[in-house]
Amino acid sequence: MNAVEVNELVKKYGEFEAVKGVSFNVNEGEIFGLIGPNGAGKTTILRIIATLLQITEGSVRVFDYDVEKEADEVRKLISYLPEDAGAYRNLTGREYLSFIATFFGGKKEMVERGIEIANLGKRIDDKIDTYSKGMIRRLLVARALMNKPKLSILDEPTSGLDVINAQEVRKIIQRTVKEGTTVLLSSHNMLEVEFLCHRIALINEGRIVEEGSPEELKEKHDAKNVEEVFLKVMK
Ligand code: ATP
Repeated sequence: MNAVEVNELVKKYGEFEAVKGVSFNVNEGEIFGLIGPNGAGKTTILRIIATLLQITEGSVRVFDYDVEKEADEVRKLISYLPEDAGAYRNLTGREYLSFIATFFGGKKEMVERGIEIANLGKRIDDKIDTYSKGMIRRLLVARALMNKPKLSILDEPTSGLDVINAQEVRKIIQRTVKEGTTVLLSSHNMLEVEFLCHRIALINEGRIVEEGSPEELKEKHDAKNVEEVFLKVMK
């Protein structure tokens, strides 16, 4: 079974067509990356898969559940990290993860796992409003992965993180995938995409312009790395 099946997806905001007939599948157990310039439609596609936006045309299924007709079932299986997510700043990191865990039955191991993923050391007991941008992002990634969702949808998971923190988060994502989560992410970072993703789709102006594994795409375009593929395809 595919983790995600996107079929001829169209999304209009009023008259403006942000997504113009996109189809792709995400296999269970893989890390699939959407890359593309600003405004390409990545966030729109991720929000639709996360059951947060209405479809204009086409269909999307998550583990064979229809994201519109069976949204409640889909929501039980997924987690979603928005691009611009915030956390409750008056809570400590630990309190925040405990609060989120209550939605999933409040298991203590879940909070412990979240704390381990966030890896904030003693600062986990400080108020979130004393955290740096990178610390908040790590806490939010921990929140998205601590309950071992079947599918985690991560919109630019490492945005705003320094090189070391970003690499840590990528390792966390890889580890979570080994433990059974499928990951669909978006990124502007080509190194990240190459390092992390089993397959990628390149999106431009609401259309998929290229799709495949980083290796396949590099070979096809005679490119040294995914960045070069991207630049060649976007020309
Ligand atoms: P970025 O890399 O900058 O985050 P993106 O690929 O995630 O971009 P989207 O946020 O999906 O792109 O936006 C796709 C297009 O849809 C853009 O032209 C954007 O301006 C437009 N758009 C997004 N949300 C809305 C909205 N609520 N109303 C109108 N237009 C929107």
